[in-house]
Amino acid sequence: MSRVSIVKSRESPEDNQVYGMVKEAIDKLGGIESIVKPRQSVALKPNVVTGELSGPGVTTDKRVVEAMIKLCKEAGARKVSIVEGAGYFTETSKALELSGIKKLAEDKGAELVDVDKDETVELPVPEPLIIEKIKVSKAFMDADVRINLPVMKTHDQLLVTLGVKNLKGVIPKTMKRNFHKIGVVKGILDLYRTVPVDLTVLDAIVAMEGLGPSFGPKVELNTIIASKDMFALDRVASRIMGFAPEELDYLVEGAALGLTDFSEEVEVVGEPVSSYSYRFERPPTDLEFAEGVTVISDGACSACRGTIHSVVYDLEQMQKMGEIRDLFIVVGSKAEVPEGLSNTPVIMGICQSMNADQGCYVEGCPPNNDKMRAAIYQVCNISD
Ligand code: SF4
Repeated sequence: MSRVSIVKSRESPEDNQVYGMVKEAIDKLGGIESIVKPRQSVALKPNVVTGELSGPGVTTDKRVVEAMIKLCKEAGARKVSIVEGAGYFTETSKALELSGIKKLAEDKGAELVDVDKDETVELPVPEPLIIEKIKVSKAFMDADVRINLPVMKTHDQLLVTLGVKNLKGVIPKTMKRNFHKIGVVKGILDLYRTVPVDLTVLDAIVAMEGLGPSFGPKVELNTIIASKDMFALDRVASRIMGFAPEELDYLVEGAALGLTDFSEEVEVVGEPVSSYSYRFERPPTDLEFAEGVTVISDGACSACRGTIHSVVYDLEQMQKMGEIRDLFIVVGSKAEVPEGLSNTPVIMGICQSMNADQGCYVEGCPPNNDKMRAAIYQVCNISD
């Protein structure tokens, strides 16, 4: 039976308590010595999706990363690396700097690996679903031990992002974009079956609900969840968030592939799942808004989708939605601008640069809210 450990602090943990929480969660799985042996090299994979939005609930809490570095060194690791590639729309080196992970690595003597600059290795996917070969950070694959450090968040396409989805950060940006084109569920399952991970420690000190993975409100759970079985961890964590595993396509498809078995209980040690009663707000998964707003989307990733939700939210708060008429937004690498639209469309993001001359183009990856709002005001003749 797979084991998942849960450690909860009654209050927001102080800096010096986080190490104890992470250690306790791993001790309940047999201790760090059962995972890291003396003289081994370890690669840690946090979630640093975008440096500009760094902070609790968006990126992995630095204190969790720091605790893992310390634990690995105490176990005798000869080298600890932090390996990460930020979201498609963010320069990784910038995200690592703004998030404070770069400084942490320098202060704690860990090597920092920018996946977008690191050498990659091309690995064959066993019984591929959609990708025959995946390029993965060489530093991550070369490590003796691989440890995943995701954040508990909702996600507009997968409903949640936990352990399995976080692995996407070890592939270079070109492949990330491809995942969104060909199907993110099957893509992350192919990745999971190609890249072995020894331990997952989920940061749920501050989680995110609603408009995840970057724009949602924070949820303070003050919790660390750990497991050597990433699928078991995702099953337990999603239940804590209030999702049934059957709601999550990647868990269902993973179960069909034999990666987890829903009929088998997961052994939970520590805080019981039943002590979490808060149900996370669901992420908005569609792009249907008020009457008069049409989003033509094909191949758009969560950043542009999240930006559209966030801009519409801003317009509602500013009581401007009533003035929107015939707004068309074209987004995503495969979206085409339909003929005969009744208004000039807003063409959104670098994925749509080939259609820039067919409407009011907003550059960016994703474009920021201010630029989007300005374009919407322009095409809908709205004054500030
Ligand atoms: S432009 Fe938007 S959809 Fe395209 S890669 Fe950037 S964020 Fe994703």
